Amino acid sequence: MQAGVITIFPEIFSTITRFGTIRKAIESNLFEFKSFDIRDYASDRRRTVDARPYGGGPGMILMPEPLAACIDYAKQSVGGPVIFLTPRGERFDQKMAEELAQVPKFTLVCGRYEGIDERIIKTRVDQEVSIGDYVISGGEFAALVLLDAVVRLLPGVLGNKESAHQDSFSNGMLEGPHYTRPEKFEGLDVPRVLLSGNHQEIKKWRHQQALDWTRKRRPDLEGNYNQYR
Ligand code: SAM
Repeated sequence: MQAGVITIFPEIFSTITRFGTIRKAIESNLFEFKSFDIRDYASDRRRTVDARPYGGGPGMILMPEPLAACIDYAKQSVGGPVIFLTPRGERFDQKMAEELAQVPKFTLVCGRYEGIDERIIKTRVDQEVSIGDYVISGGEFAALVLLDAVVRLLPGVLGNKESAHQDSFSNGMLEGPHYTRPEKFEGLDVPRVLLSGNHQEIKKWRHQQALDWTRKRRPDLEGNYNQYR
């Protein structure tokens, strides 16, 4: 998989190549990542990329010309659909992460300030995606969330032990509780079934715990998890 990111802060992405799952994916040649700095496409010496909104109002807007030139270059270099991260986009979830994990190339556009000129969305954006019903200061953090959720699903990135198929949402439910050593901690015991060695009983217990937690904490998921009963 190849992903491009369009941003005014490419340095933010230097961290993802250095840690954890994404680093592992890059080192295993399963994932390639390129960032593109919108300021490189500004036409003035001060590398201006933002301007006041027409019609007044607070804040600044990313101007269309440098952004368009940057997206056009990234499309040639990486290719694939262009996804703009925005609170008004379609809500990102595990299903969307699974769908994106099948897309070999895509480019993410990170907004800043009050957002980007609408004409960029009309002319260059294929999909608008939100990471949730709240506003953060820049699309870079949304892009990091999306990339991490997608890259960990690529075949070969996670080992068997940490398989993504057991995670919350992959089967429509939240995951149940985990325990590790020691058997007793501050007066609390590990549930006996987990020490029994009976794999079928353990599987049944885990499934029931997952159902109970999902019912209690996320009853809105019921439609999804019913099919896995
Ligand atoms: N004025 C915009 C609005 O009300 O929708 C919010 C702008 S926000 C301060 C700056 C940038 O952060 C956005 O252009 C977008 O790229 C990114 N952003 C903020 N919240 C986001 C979210 N929930 N999901 C994805 N991107 C988000």
